[in-house]
Amino acid sequence: MRVSVSSLDWLNLGMRFFTDSAQVHCPYCGESFELIVDTSAGDQSYIEDCYVCCAPIHFSITVDFEGELVVLAQHENDC
Ligand SMILES: [Zn+2]
Repeated sequence: MRVSVSSLDWLNLGMRFFTDSAQVHCPYCGESFELIVDTSAGDQSYIEDCYVCCAPIHFSITVDFEGELVVLAQHENDC
């Protein structure tokens, strides 16, 4: 049985269009981790606890004019 690889590729491209990942550093403990972002939602700003030290990190997520993901991770009180 043959598996169509091309249709799988298209699926992956579609996924990639709507989600992206960025390497971020926790401003509290300095631990780096990968953040998965739903880019279809546009610019976002939210607070999420660091999974290492549980401190509240303020994430500012923007997509620049070239479609590159820009993620800022700040202390909650810096914003
Ligand atoms: Zn942390």
